[in-house]
Amino acid sequence: RQPLLSVSDLTVRFATRNGPVRAVDALSFDVHRGRTLGIVGESGSGKSVTSMAVMGLHTTAEVTGSIRLDGQELTGLTERELGRLRGRRMAMIFQDPLSSLHPYYPVGEQIAEHHRVHFGSRRAVARRRAVEMLAEVGIPEPERRVDEYPHQFSGGMRQRVMIAMALACEPELLIADEPTTALDVTVQAQILELIARLQRERGLAVVLITHDLGVVARVAHEVLVMYGGRAVEEASVDALFATPAHPYTRGLLDSLPRLDDTDDAPLRAILGSPPSLLTPAPGCAFAPRCDRAAAASAGERLRCETEQPLLGGPAGHPAACHLPSYEGATP
Ligand code: SF4
Ligand code: MG
Repeated sequence: RQPLLSVSDLTVRFATRNGPVRAVDALSFDVHRGRTLGIVGESGSGKSVTSMAVMGLHTTAEVTGSIRLDGQELTGLTERELGRLRGRRMAMIFQDPLSSLHPYYPVGEQIAEHHRVHFGSRRAVARRRAVEMLAEVGIPEPERRVDEYPHQFSGGMRQRVMIAMALACEPELLIADEPTTALDVTVQAQILELIARLQRERGLAVVLITHDLGVVARVAHEVLVMYGGRAVEEASVDALFATPAHPYTRGLLDSLPRLDDTDDAPLRAILGSPPSLLTPAPGCAFAPRCDRAAAASAGERLRCETEQPLLGGPAGHPAACHLPSYEGATP
């Protein structure tokens, strides 16, 4: 079956005061119905830029490559054409629900508005839909709360409202950009559980964007690790956690808190800063931070510093590294 979302050779460039920046470089991935792809990376890795490009929200960027939704090419569509797809076939939720919710309108009206726009439904019908959606995302007393304003909801409940709004018109693709980053751990787990449940019940294709591999472990089926605007590793969640091939992925895993941590041993962070997109280095973007390259022979190190590694290796688990390791992760 063809993937619901198929991105191929996507490149996104911005003109900045200091020169052109290539925020995403030759990125390809597929997402199937009923699956969740986790896109992981630090801030500046290009993961949010990718999601905005898919939604057609980059008005100032130069986007090349192909983005197909259920076979339909999205690049080159007019704003009007994209507007018809947004909400109706693809929807997005963000870290901060307040950025998407209007403070002066009751949440029910905001959910209903989407329905009215896309389906031309009458007021009463749209309102009933809003109540249904609030119930579906686990908001107690939806009949009452539908008339409340965003500020009357807690952070976690607001995120539920935003999910209700995103799913009101039955999109097939949901993009969630750091949906739980602003929430405390307990609420975070509840929201991830909600997204996973809705994903299963509705057969959604989900793209979950996060800096946190712990979040990926909870809900994703497949993972794409990004660094400096490029894909550096792709695998099923199980394979990625069992045998992280790229040193950056291994570093992300090592910096995760573990359940079996008995003492307060410090977490190992990846030292150094993300690469400059303005003046990309000629070799591997991760080289200045890479402990594997540092421990390698002079010849291998030279290759890391001068030749950009391309995605390669096993078909189901490629990595962009000259010295990939498919050995088990440190327990
Ligand atoms: Fe490290 Fe070299 Fe692999 Fe880059 S190519 S991640 S520098 S080992
Ligand atoms: Mg971001």
